[in-house]
Amino acid sequence: MTPGNSFLRVFVTPFVTAFVTLFGKVFCTIFIAFARSFFFQFLLLSSSAWAAQTTLTPEATIGTTFGTKTETTSERAQAELELLKKTGIAVLHSAQPYEAWQLQAAVQILTIGLGIHKPNKLNRLKYLYSQAPTRQFFPPKGFFSNELQAIILTTPKEASNNNNNNNNNICEFYETLSHEIGHSVVFSLLSPSALRHLAIEFGPWAKHIGLQAPTNLQDPIFMTPHSDYNMPIEAVLIHNNVPSRYALSNVHEWFAETFSNWVIQTLAEKNITHCLQDDSISNALKQEFTNILNSN
Ligand SMILES: [Zn+2]
Repeated sequence: MTPGNSFLRVFVTPFVTAFVTLFGKVFCTIFIAFARSFFFQFLLLSSSAWAAQTTLTPEATIGTTFGTKTETTSERAQAELELLKKTGIAVLHSAQPYEAWQLQAAVQILTIGLGIHKPNKLNRLKYLYSQAPTRQFFPPKGFFSNELQAIILTTPKEASNNNNNNNNNICEFYETLSHEIGHSVVFSLLSPSALRHLAIEFGPWAKHIGLQAPTNLQDPIFMTPHSDYNMPIEAVLIHNNVPSRYALSNVHEWFAETFSNWVIQTLAEKNITHCLQDDSISNALKQEFTNILNSN
């Protein structure tokens, strides 16, 4: 073996091998990156082409039949977009999606009922989830989660019956959604002391809420039932600004129930809905609601 051969084996060959291996790796990485990019470009193009088609030619969209009503996905998509643009709230559908009229109801409640005209006014309400009804009690119709910044509502199983969204169905949905929005208003726009003040000044909570200032919105003083909660309904409704027994569950439910009553009343006065209920909220409390929503 010549010294030259030995030099080749010891120094040049490993260098060349390493170079080829490295070059191969780099080449492969670049190639994969290009391939991926092309693949995603293709996906993007095909999905936007699909979106353009669904927007421009509604008759070409996939129709979803709810009871006797046929609704196109574009009708729902349009309602979703309107909700997002006007209020900043994004819709997340489960396997049982919202119907377009339910999302249109959400827009009406927020813009006409509450008078919200800028996105993210309610900073603790970012999402509207749909959930198929289950056999379990919870959630009964809907709930607000401050942690998830979301309202979760159950969607009807047979979204509409033969009467094609009968009035009960519609009114129940408006009431439930307004109630849950009421909870989100508290967490978005009220301090613990402001909620305490409202409950004492306008609700039946003076005896129940002590002098101690609450530290947060989940303070036990806001979570305890009223002593008349289990009384006959006449004894419940005798209180000012108490539209239902549920309003005596605790201060949060009291706020949500009175708030919902005000919203439904406002929508009925503006001929948006024809849901009848007792107009049992005082003008002073209605003015408070308006002030809260106009605050920054
Ligand atoms: Zn509630």
